[in-house]
Amino acid sequence: MPPSCDLLLTNALILTMDAQFPHHRSGGVAVAGDSIVAVGPDALGFDALETIDCRGRVVMPGLVNAHTHVPMSLLRGLADDLRLDVWLMGYMMPVEREFVSPEFVGLGTRLGCAEMIRSGITCFADMYYFEEAVAEAAADVGMRALCGQTVLRFPSPDARSYEEGLTRAREFIRTWKGHPLIVPAPAPHAPYTCTPEILRSCAELAAEFDVPLHIHLSETLLEVQELRDRHGMPGVPYIRKHGLFDAKVLAAHCVHVDDGEMRALKNFGAGVAHNPSSNLKLAAGIAPVARMLELGVNVGIGTDGAASNNDLDMFEETRLAALLAKGTLGDPTAVPAREALAMATRLGAAALHLDHLTGSLEPGKRADLLVLDVERLHNLPAFARDPGGIYARIVYTSKSTDVVDVMCNGRWLMRDRVLKTVKEDELTREAADRAQRIDAFLGSREVSVLQKLVAVGGAVEQESFEVQVKARLSTDARLLDVLSGHELTVIRSSRYRQHDLYWSFEDPEQGRLRYRDDEFLDEKGTVTGERSRLTLTGRTREDRFGEVLLFRSRYLAPAAHSARFYREYFRPAAEHVVTKERRRWLVAYRGVEFYVHLDRLIVPAADGFFLEIKSRTWSQRDARDKAAVITELLALFGASPDETLGDGYVDLAARSGGRFGV
Ligand SMILES: [Zn+2]
Repeated sequence: MPPSCDLLLTNALILTMDAQFPHHRSGGVAVAGDSIVAVGPDALGFDALETIDCRGRVVMPGLVNAHTHVPMSLLRGLADDLRLDVWLMGYMMPVEREFVSPEFVGLGTRLGCAEMIRSGITCFADMYYFEEAVAEAAADVGMRALCGQTVLRFPSPDARSYEEGLTRAREFIRTWKGHPLIVPAPAPHAPYTCTPEILRSCAELAAEFDVPLHIHLSETLLEVQELRDRHGMPGVPYIRKHGLFDAKVLAAHCVHVDDGEMRALKNFGAGVAHNPSSNLKLAAGIAPVARMLELGVNVGIGTDGAASNNDLDMFEETRLAALLAKGTLGDPTAVPAREALAMATRLGAAALHLDHLTGSLEPGKRADLLVLDVERLHNLPAFARDPGGIYARIVYTSKSTDVVDVMCNGRWLMRDRVLKTVKEDELTREAADRAQRIDAFLGSREVSVLQKLVAVGGAVEQESFEVQVKARLSTDARLLDVLSGHELTVIRSSRYRQHDLYWSFEDPEQGRLRYRDDEFLDEKGTVTGERSRLTLTGRTREDRFGEVLLFRSRYLAPAAHSARFYREYFRPAAEHVVTKERRRWLVAYRGVEFYVHLDRLIVPAADGFFLEIKSRTWSQRDARDKAAVITELLALFGASPDETLGDGYVDLAARSGGRFGV
């Protein structure tokens, strides 16, 4: 009696994608339960409950998406054509802090899975928050997934601290280990977002449960340069030093790795996920994939998240992987089509450390496969002379819309282009609803510079009041005389060189944003330190007491990012540059403390000195009293107030084509 099976796919061209790359023009694929039991002519010896005629089609392994953040399909198209830091810190992370919940993650995963199934993907490696919701949705939809629970050194949507993140990862792995479709993993986000302790703990956790570990590695040049500056080594030796290779590593990106690092990846059995669209779109660079393959590294192909791609189409990624390798090396023989397709299947599965389960059509492996129509108009005609030509037809010509059927773990996920495990219309409605809510959130944030500042700034000092007066001096002699005399007490003094960028906006109500780089100077004028701050000034004149003005409103935030970051994030209507040398004294006079600033303007260039005397105040009465003392102090310095300086140097900078005199 012949052996029996549940399903037999016949008359297709079968690409097994195993190490010998055999393809069968006759024969079939026999599936029993969740597994493949025979491939090629052997399969025809099986008695099948159901036989499907796949004439004119290719049957091949389901594609492996080696790196993604599948719930981010809900953030697709939210912010584009921005630099990585502005995109991530200005948009993605604030929106994630506000919206990411288990429900968000579940919905995003179902949406992403639906798209991936349509593109012939049966297995993906994920990294996100609330990863149990990704695992649940993926298992429910019927896809195979390596699910990485993110661990970060700062608070994330699902963990207030990294300890909590680690506990979460442990609990997640304990719960899901052994599931037929889901392989749980810890995902320390990246070396620059993790401490050495996090890296080590995650590696220990992965080793303890014998599961892979998913991490971003050497994605940008900046990140690698920082590692070199701070630790004297690039990405691969750095993670090695912190014990990461005690685990089975899947490293996403590896754009900036040298030959020694690639050899180390090979020697430690690490897998690499190449993400061509994401790396191109965020201008991270192009990974040296051909060299990695030459050294025998398991390199898979990933789409990365839909927010940075912006789709989850493995046909497009595979084509790009082959083309980019040729273009960058100036060698059209680099990464030929067959090798590119191997990256999208068997090598990808090996990169995920799941090649015992999926990635090729071999008896004993799970029935993860796709049926592809290769007789559509854009794929005609077909030449028979070179039997290997089919790989080029698939990699360079086929599109994700040519995928007809998809099976994972012996279960049909798509038949005749109809999704069997996802309700598409429901998903469409729910995704539109989320988009509306996120739009409203970002819309309300965008109306105010202060709101945008709060969104990226973290701690912001609240508004305050101060009385102040400004004056010009042709010489500093008298002022310095008074300061060294007995009429007032100098509590402390300092010197800076200040580089200020003033940003103003279309709507003057938004106030003005100042990005200040302070360089601390010693007596000889040598720089001894620096700091950066952001100040949002409303600059509304509240009141006046003679010559002394009362101002309200300034919001101070430490500038954690570069001036370039804030310029691209806030998109001001105008920018003015002011550079000056400032001497600053905290003095006590008649029992009141004041700051005395004496500035020499460098940009825009100006003769003489600019004097500012100011003091914080809390009440109208206090302001009036201090204003009276300031007026006396000003007379003592021999200066007379100049109201045209009331709005600071930015107006001078704006007016000045070049020098302006005192
Ligand atoms: Zn990523």
